[in-house]
Amino acid sequence: MDGKLVDWDDAKVHVLTHSLHYGLAIFEGIRCYNTKKGQAIFRLEEHVNRFFDSAHIFNMKIPFSRREIAEAIIKTVKSSGLKECYIRPLAYYGYGVMGVSPAGAPVNVVIAVWPWGAYLGEDGLKNGIRAKTSSFIRGHVNSNMSMAKVSGYYVNSQLAKQEALMLGYDEAVLLDTEGYVSEATGANIFIVRGGVIKTTPLTSILEGITRDTVMELARDAGLTVREERFTRDEIYIAQEAFLTGTAAEITPIKELDGRTLNTGKPGEITKKLQEIFFSAAKGQSKNKKHGRWLSYI
Ligand SMILES: *Cc1c(COP(=O)(O)O)cnc(C)c1O
Repeated sequence: MDGKLVDWDDAKVHVLTHSLHYGLAIFEGIRCYNTKKGQAIFRLEEHVNRFFDSAHIFNMKIPFSRREIAEAIIKTVKSSGLKECYIRPLAYYGYGVMGVSPAGAPVNVVIAVWPWGAYLGEDGLKNGIRAKTSSFIRGHVNSNMSMAKVSGYYVNSQLAKQEALMLGYDEAVLLDTEGYVSEATGANIFIVRGGVIKTTPLTSILEGITRDTVMELARDAGLTVREERFTRDEIYIAQEAFLTGTAAEITPIKELDGRTLNTGKPGEITKKLQEIFFSAAKGQSKNKKHGRWLSYI
């Protein structure tokens, strides 16, 4: 917390923490995987860069350098003693002022780490999840600055997630303001149709680092990837669909709105991409290029 290692039980904030009331906090979600050569943080540099980009979009000044944040992340993981973990850096406006403007409130930075397995369950990762098109939509591009990863946007995600869970689904797919598919509550979406992979272009979505990883892995495997808008019914008739995110990793979608996708089993391309993704993240890839994604601690 703010440059010091703090015991779990002492990691507390004041009730008048500005971000708690007004919703502006910048965060990241990063994973550390256990590899044969020790623990490695996946795409650390890209996550740290996005953390600073998110802050820049909101004119929030993080009182540390990129290098200090990257080093602090490594130090926090090391001190946790965890072999594999999820890492959550968060920059927020602390206690100081009340009112919409955070001017005068300090910018506090914390990094928390904890063990976190398959975000949508082991069964979801292996066999796919059931999703529902949400009645809630992703914010307009001039309402949400979607290039930023901001805690406040998760109010919208929670409405969608709550609705999906209440109706017995695992996850929600949100549409954009024009009705095209946007993303899930905290993950990007891909479909496969006629051997072509499509993913939402950068408009209403967060520019996922897993999305970028998967596009590169797919292209390297000789597959065609297009960043192109698509509609919910194209998911209904897609051969395969999956979600990507640091938490969700690559989670197959087996059903949307009560329509089973293809056979209802994770498709060949999805399974292949999962395999290459996990081998890259766990340092088992034979492709030397993938080594650049790993920061050994
Ligand atoms: C974090 C996040 C994602 C996934 O991004 P990754 O960099 O792959 O973890 C997708 N959508 C939203 C809204 C997110 O907050």
